Amino acid sequence: MDNQHLNAIKQLKKVAKVLRPEYEDKKLFDKVINKLKKPDRVIEGTIRVKMDNGSTKIFKAYRSQHNNAVGPYKGGIRFHKDVSKEEVMALSTWMTWKCSVTGIPYGGSKGGVVVDPKKLSKTELERLSRAYARLIAPHIGPWVDVPAPDVNTTGEIMAWMVDEYEKTSNKRYKTLVENPVATFTGKPLLLGGSKGRTEATGLGGFHILEQLAKKLKFVPGKTSIAIQGFGNVGYWFAHYAHEAGFKIVALSDSRGGVFNEKGLDPDKVLACKEKGGTIGNCNCTDKNCSNKGTRITNVKLLELAVDILAPAALENVINIENAKNVKAKVVLELANGPTTPEADEVLDKNGVIVIPDVLANAGGVTVSYFEWTQNLQGYYWEKKLVLKRLKNLMDEAFLRMWDLKTKAKVTARVATYMSAVKKVVDTMILRGGI
Ligand code: NAD
Repeated sequence: MDNQHLNAIKQLKKVAKVLRPEYEDKKLFDKVINKLKKPDRVIEGTIRVKMDNGSTKIFKAYRSQHNNAVGPYKGGIRFHKDVSKEEVMALSTWMTWKCSVTGIPYGGSKGGVVVDPKKLSKTELERLSRAYARLIAPHIGPWVDVPAPDVNTTGEIMAWMVDEYEKTSNKRYKTLVENPVATFTGKPLLLGGSKGRTEATGLGGFHILEQLAKKLKFVPGKTSIAIQGFGNVGYWFAHYAHEAGFKIVALSDSRGGVFNEKGLDPDKVLACKEKGGTIGNCNCTDKNCSNKGTRITNVKLLELAVDILAPAALENVINIENAKNVKAKVVLELANGPTTPEADEVLDKNGVIVIPDVLANAGGVTVSYFEWTQNLQGYYWEKKLVLKRLKNLMDEAFLRMWDLKTKAKVTARVATYMSAVKKVVDTMILRGGI
């Protein structure tokens, strides 16, 4: 078992301790918590893919279905060389909490293939995606488990999987499979995708920022933000925060970053990055590259004395080595698992408020939920409606957490987990049969 799944169990144990006194039947509560320490099922297999040169390669593949007490399993599929059984188990557990905390009717799952997709041609990638869809086809469906894109998987890959799932299932069951389009989310608009999905995670994080700023009495123009990672999530978060008047003082990608204490315009940085290939080069002062920042390393960015630090790239970037150097007042976890449990304790001791990933980046799965409901209805919403409903759910989830945090005098992470875990535990008890 690697660290990530151990981390997920540690977090669950910590919150179980806080919740336990509330339950009369301690034995039953302990049984439910023990069940939640492991996924309901892990589908594990090898998939054979024909390469362009005629050879066949074998890849290890997984789908972890953690819990479906509240609703169908829900979670992405990642293609990465570091995918492991323990990693998908941890990520599926976090999906259960993420769906629960926003109040959407899903459980948690996650899948992955151990592969470096950059080494595949497009046709090889399509064959790999189709082979993975065949592996999981008997275990998914609109009311069973609903996959989506994750690291290195895209809307196009979801389209291939919908197609393969539909063909495979029609053949297997000798009848037309029910609503194959509603079996995957994160699809292109042409194949039943939802408007507003692209910006959903960054925008959801921005709604959390807005609510948090109100609680902490942070005035946008005087609130500085440093963001690590300038991909889908980091860019959209920066875009909306800048638009609302927050000061984005640092941005970075894998090759370094740019810093300007007076504030950067994320759209200009993006334009510059697209020209220069990396944010580190966006420190020029000429008219065409008007960011006027200085270079900063990813290490230094995490240690800036800002109001808000938003890690939006990788897991475990705030760890026991550097947690003591974090000078931000708030860490808004836009990436999945950016803070290790040990670092979390250091941040708490130092008075840093950490808004956890399962809340801060839940905007993506929320709009995936909207996509699924649109697919089930066969009725598609205007973007304005999607974004309005996203804001409502994110605001409510934050306010529920903050209320609990204040009443129970716990950290934002513990409060988030208390509300998420409690809902799942209560639903499992209600269903019975444990
Ligand atoms: P992305 O691939 O679009 O962007 C990742 C960014 O991180 C890139 O700018 C990349 O250059 C940067 N990066 C990579 N390695 C880095 C390093 N060592 N230091 C600094 N920056 C580095 O990915 P994304 O979709 O924006 O996802 C970012 C994070 O958010 C991931 O943890 C992902 O799991 C999580 N997340 C994404 C979504 C979503 O809807 N995209 C939803 C929930 C959570």
